[in-house]
Amino acid sequence: MNDVIILGSGPAGLTAAIYTGRAWLKTLVLESAVVGGNTAIADQIDNYPGFPFGILGGELMENFRKQAERFGAEVRMEEVLKITNSSDVKIVTTTEGEYEAKAVIIAAGARRRQLGLNEEQEFLGRGVSYCATCDGAFFRDCPVAVVGGGESAFKEALYLADIASRVYIIHRRGEFRASPGSIDKVQKNDKIELKLNRIIKRIEGDTVMRRLVLQDVVSQEEESLAVEGLFVSIGLVSAADFVKDLVDTKDGYIITDDRMQTSVPGIFAAGDIRAKQTRQIATAVGDGAQAGVSVIEYLKE
Ligand code: NAP
Repeated sequence: MNDVIILGSGPAGLTAAIYTGRAWLKTLVLESAVVGGNTAIADQIDNYPGFPFGILGGELMENFRKQAERFGAEVRMEEVLKITNSSDVKIVTTTEGEYEAKAVIIAAGARRRQLGLNEEQEFLGRGVSYCATCDGAFFRDCPVAVVGGGESAFKEALYLADIASRVYIIHRRGEFRASPGSIDKVQKNDKIELKLNRIIKRIEGDTVMRRLVLQDVVSQEEESLAVEGLFVSIGLVSAADFVKDLVDTKDGYIITDDRMQTSVPGIFAAGDIRAKQTRQIATAVGDGAQAGVSVIEYLKE
């Protein structure tokens, strides 16, 4: 029997594990993809306090992991399929088996949103990618495109500009959600070209992707853009599908009170998976710390 099982090893999950581990609670962290979550595959992180010159996402999350393990938390790579609430015991079913815990923290984060084009799946891994730091090296000296106007898209474009021959940012509007600092860097980078007020109509190719067909949202005119890679960076969607029948949600995100308690006693949620205004590493860390403290108090009660 675990005291607490934490679903997800991003900033929220590992922070919660540091808190519960330090309280001597038997803590199991389950991760289905990459330890460190989306942050682990991010390039430079400039707005997480404590690192005046920034830090690589992978390095930051490796530190989180080591700190959680130092306090006894165990991290296992297993995908969680289901949580069953059976009075005082929570049963977590994974691809490998079943675990029991007195409390659960759901910190499974959010997934990259997809464009929803048919060819997106067809060319996945053959031009289409959701992660520049993972796949950018395949496109050395090739023209590539990034779709999106947020901080992620701009960071991806800046990362790719050091590798690719040319980087196009395709955005459906003329204004951006990216930070002024990133917008400035992009505008000053000769290798990055903005394709604004345009949507992607089609992805074309043969065995691999060869070009995009863009449509101007104002004039409706179409144009062909020869690129070998497309990095889709259009925001996040909640990863809470697997618990939507267990806990209350809003627009797919888990509702909690300010102690991170969900609608089910003993089940807490933290980080990007929670219904909230701001999704940042720093806010995920705050959620994780609160969830850890709440579990400690819940188990005392
Ligand atoms: P985001 O801020 O939600 O931006 C998503 C972008 O994709 C928007 O420009 C949006 O256009 C566009 N978009 C959404 N759906 C689309 C569709 N179907 N087709 C075409 N374009 C579409 O998402 P994000 O950039 O992934 O950032 C998520 C959060 O993480 C933000 O809070 C961000 O600040 C944070 N973040 C932080 C860092 C860091 O280093 N600290 C790095 C990356 C991200 P509209 O603008 O028209 O809606």
